[in-house]
Order: sequence, then C-alpha cells, then structure tokens
Amino acid sequence: MLQENVFALRGTLAHTPTMDGFAFYEDAYLVCASGEIEGIYQSLPERLAGVSVLDYSGKIIVPGMADMHMHAPQYAFRGMGVNMEREGSDWFKLYAFPDESRYADPEYARSTYTRFVEDLSKTTTTRACIFGTIHRPSTELLMELLAERGFDAYVGKVNMDRNSIPGLLETTQETLDETRQWLEDCGDGRFGSVKPIITPRYIPTSTDESLDGLGRLAAQYHVPVQSHLSELLSEVEWVRRLHPNASCYGDAYDRFGLFGDPVPTVMAHCVHPTGAEFALLQRRNVMIAHCPQSNTNLGTGVAPVQKMLDAGIRVGLGSDMAGSNTLSLLRAITDAIQASKMKWALTEQGDDPSFQRKCLTLAQAFYLATKGGGAFWGKAGSFEKGYLFDAVVIDDTSLRDLNRRTTYERLERIIMTADDRNITAKFINGRQVLGAPEQEG
Ligand code: FE
Repeated sequence: MLQENVFALRGTLAHTPTMDGFAFYEDAYLVCASGEIEGIYQSLPERLAGVSVLDYSGKIIVPGMADMHMHAPQYAFRGMGVNMEREGSDWFKLYAFPDESRYADPEYARSTYTRFVEDLSKTTTTRACIFGTIHRPSTELLMELLAERGFDAYVGKVNMDRNSIPGLLETTQETLDETRQWLEDCGDGRFGSVKPIITPRYIPTSTDESLDGLGRLAAQYHVPVQSHLSELLSEVEWVRRLHPNASCYGDAYDRFGLFGDPVPTVMAHCVHPTGAEFALLQRRNVMIAHCPQSNTNLGTGVAPVQKMLDAGIRVGLGSDMAGSNTLSLLRAITDAIQASKMKWALTEQGDDPSFQRKCLTLAQAFYLATKGGGAFWGKAGSFEKGYLFDAVVIDDTSLRDLNRRTTYERLERIIMTADDRNITAKFINGRQVLGAPEQEG
C-alpha cells in the first residue's frame, strides 16, 4: 500500500512525556503520518511495511525545541555589551536601540536576518517566538526567511510609541496603523507556518492608547501576544509608577487584554513576580519564557521556576538573544539547571537542605525546552501520538569515551557539551529541513 505522507526515523529515541523523567526507546522507529507522530515501534508493524525509513541507527533522536523568547535583530551584535549593567540602560543606548533602528533599511535587514535564520537552522530549535523591530517591511522579510527554512514560528512587529530614540519610535497612530497593515499582510497564510504575534516591547515603551489598540487588534485578528514581564526590579518600579492602580506588572497588560486567556500569551523573564502576579499568571494561563543565560548576563536574578511549576504555571525556555550570547537551547537547558542550583544555594539552602527537590532536574529542564514551550502550539515537543512531528537527530560519536554509557548518560553529555556540529538532521511538521537522509529502505 502506498503511503505517501508516512515515513519513519530509525534510531534511539528520547523524550519527556512528563517532567518526571525521560522515556527512552533503544533502536526504535518513530513514525510520521501527515506531519504528526503516528507512533513509536520497536519493529514496524505489517501495515507499515514498505514505508520509507531514514536510518539513523546509533544516533539519538529528540523532539524539536521551542525558543520562547528571542530578538532576531539583536543577533547582529550578540556577545557584546552583556557585561554592562542594564539598570542604567547603557546596553539599550549603545547597542540595542541604535542597531534596531537600522532595520528601517531592508537591505541591512536582509543581510543580518539571513545570517540569523541560517544559524538558527543549524540548532535544535524548530519553533520560536521572535521579536523583530518596529519596521513592518523588515519584519515581513524575517517571516519570509524563516518560512523558507521551514520554521514554525511566531514573529512580532515591535510596538514602541514612547521612551525610545529617534528612528526607533512611532506615533501612537503609526504603531497601530502599521500593526493593522502587517496583520492584513500576513493574512491567507502568506508566510506559511510563520505567523504574527502582537509584540509591545514592554509597558514603559507603549502608551495606554497604543496598548488599548493592540489589545483590540489581538482580539480582532485572533493573534497571540508576547512581551517582557518583571525582568528588573527597577523596571517593575517604573511600571508601578506608570500604572499606579495596577495590582502588579502583569495587570498593566491585563487591563488592555494583553495578558492571557482568551489571548494566548508568552511573557519573557518574570524574575521578580509578586504574589498578585503569580495569581494572575495562573488565572490567565500565561506562559513564562525562562531565559537563564540572559538573566545571568544582565545580573537580573533567577526566576522562581520551580515555584512556578509547583503552581501549575506554564514555562518554556528562551535564549533572549542577544541578552544571551548563543542561540543554543541545549545551552539554555544547562543554564536553567545551573541557575536553579545557584538560586537554591544563595537563597533557600538554609530552609531546606534537600538539593534535589529544589533544583531543576535534567528531565525537567529538557521538558521545558521541548514540551513546555511546545505547548504554545498545542501538541508539540514530544513523541506522543498526535504531536506535531518535530525531531532532531544528534550524532554523539565525537563526544564518546571508551566506556560503555547508558542512553541517559549519552543524552546528558549531549545536553552539556554538544553543539551544531553534532546535529545530523532536523524535521519540522514532518518536513526535513536539515541534513540529507543516510539511507532509504
Ligand atoms: Fe527580551
């Protein structure tokens, strides 16, 4: 029987259906049907006999990862200025804002966004929530480039109508008109699986009038929302002064319909949530993009991730490029674990000597990078039946030693030490976007 939309990957499979631990399948088949996971088999059943098999025996296959927060334009100056104190806004003044203003030039945008997309293609990332700049044409170009490489992503034209620099500032009318035009431009699936997401940069750079208009646009066009939340203590205080009647930073978004249910929302950071904010995050089902490397680089602190998970708050991982210096979500998993250990060591150790219960486990952090963030797309980031078929094939030959290692140990070493050179192939929604098939059967 000809099964055109069905194929299988053969290799050692690893995923986290729950945060409690990994599920491993040695030398198994992962079957894709019409872009979704059809099943996992130790040997292919009769009804699947004859389907195309891509043989990755000896390699480890993991679900694609979701980068829940990144700034594409900032890739151009990654690795610089991260040791500045952001409290004084030096980083914004010297790097972020001047560089982002250059995206008014579509040629500049094409050259830097092409590099960004090419480099992202080589990573474990299959899905992402991405900030562009205030410029509509450049943002649409970024969407086009991501779509060409098969990504399933949300991209935002950023809104800023106060507290920015000339060249990176819109009037309120402009920011709303341009956003509406952009949403119209994105209609009819023009950019394939790359879709728009409403993106006020953060409360201090948007007037009430623009936030109100953006909330209406999100509802009218049924698009999700992304922004920043409670990253710095000074920022939390600034928002309190701008919105003295709001119960918390998140409430300043919520008043304009920009904070969760019924509008899917992801907020970056949340390093300093208050009790009121925690309750609002729960009530509105807002997802937090935890960005440990950025938080460490900028000295903002460590988000209370374990507490969020205990409270049932949805959490994914983000690089926050270029608050971070790398696109690697393998590194983000490592950073999340390390940051949780530092949080425990510096703030909680005296209360509870149980190291394991307070820090993120490898499985928990892996879950956040895959199924945690993947939930923003519904069923993504796992090999369970019915999930979108995102898979990454990793060759750990160059990482091995002479001892026999368990699959857990191999995966742990991949997460801690692998880079783009170890990634053999990548699939998004059942489509191969990286690497040539080794063998077809
Ligand atoms: Fe950010």
